Amino acid sequence: MRILVSGGGVAGLSAGIDLVAGGHDVTLVERSDHLRVNGSPIDIRGESIGVAEEMGVLGQIRARRIGMSERIEFVDASDRILAELAADEVNDTAGDVEIPREDLVTILRAALPAATPLIFGESIVELHDDGAGVDVRFSSGTSDRFDLVVGADGMHSATRRLVFGPEHLFLRHLGFYTAIAALPPRARRDGRNSMFNLPGLMSGITGYQDKALAVFLFRSPWIDYDYRDLDAQKRILTDVFAGQRDWRVGELLEAALADAELYFDSVSQIDMDAWHRGRAVLVGDAAYCASPLSGRGTSLALTGAWFLAEALREHPDDVERAFAQYERLQRPHVLRAQATAAPGGDLLAPPTPEAIDARNERLRTASR
Ligand SMILES: Cc1cc2nc3c(=O)[nH]c(=O)nc-3n(C[C@H](O)[C@H](O)[C@H](O)COP(=O)(O)OP(=O)(O)OC[C@H]3O[C@@H](n4cnc5c(N)ncnc54)[C@H](O)[C@@H]3O)c2cc1C
Repeated sequence: MRILVSGGGVAGLSAGIDLVAGGHDVTLVERSDHLRVNGSPIDIRGESIGVAEEMGVLGQIRARRIGMSERIEFVDASDRILAELAADEVNDTAGDVEIPREDLVTILRAALPAATPLIFGESIVELHDDGAGVDVRFSSGTSDRFDLVVGADGMHSATRRLVFGPEHLFLRHLGFYTAIAALPPRARRDGRNSMFNLPGLMSGITGYQDKALAVFLFRSPWIDYDYRDLDAQKRILTDVFAGQRDWRVGELLEAALADAELYFDSVSQIDMDAWHRGRAVLVGDAAYCASPLSGRGTSLALTGAWFLAEALREHPDDVERAFAQYERLQRPHVLRAQATAAPGGDLLAPPTPEAIDARNERLRTASR
């Protein structure tokens, strides 16, 4: 089949690799003009480790594996440690393989056969599914026809909007926003992961290898803005932390403002009863975003792409049956991942001074 994949993240690249391996003629389009490789390290866990092996990339992933520091320190304005937390209490990291997001995306890009087009600066603007195929119009003005369209274009998926309806029907905001920016390596002292809280706000420094990252998490109701507008994202972040210069908050905000690749998004989940309609199907965050607090989004993207390609291999003449099989096999992983996301936010960004003190006291008691 001729298959269009929208999105060049972990889900899109994995779908590309798996569908080409299944004998399909695949084209990928990525809205950005380059691979988006930034972000904090991500975990590959559970069944997705076996999937990476089947895809032929597990050896390279293991070779780039990193060991993140096990502990998070909560500090006061004078950088004194108030309480410590084992990282696996934020999300369970037992048995996983941790790898910089940039390395995983680069490995997957290299595993995509050279003959498979990956077109940057391109996205779908219109889809028409007539039952026998899908006519697609692109932002560049060109048109083409495909047998299937795979939407792997992330939490704010354009494919989902065009096929299933507006985002608000499917997005469940968990009450937090997060941002990640690059810091100069020297900003991270002694390999520490230090987090500083104000009520409802967390800013911190983490890192891996020689990299340092500024991380932010804050409580907020849903904010209406153009999620593609980097300046708007930076404005929101500076407004939320307005006037806050305690600890190293000022330095971290400056780094965020200077970062052309700042990652900023709501902490949300995508809930859908069905991930396919007609000849269009969604994989990864587009279909079942579990939020960064779950630590499982990348694993879901890997297994989802794999189950989809497998199902199409097993039911080459029955797309509806193949999509149903994909959903049946993937859904239990999604339910488990989404269920793990909520507690991390309360731990990292308690809402009031009393809740911050209570969290610290609880962690001190636990470590004693
Ligand atoms: C830059 C970036 C940084 C991230 N950092 C973190 C992190 O630090 N921690 C964490 O837990 N998760 C992070 N994530 C999310 C994480 O990558 C995903 O949860 C997970 O890997 C599943 O990936 P996905 O491919 O489904 O979605 P994404 O990783 O969101 O990939 C979607 C891709 O589709 C592209 N795209 C978007 N819209 C369109 C469109 N209309 N047409 C074509 N292409 C489009 C995007 O540019 C992106 O490359 C990050 C995502 C991105 C894009």
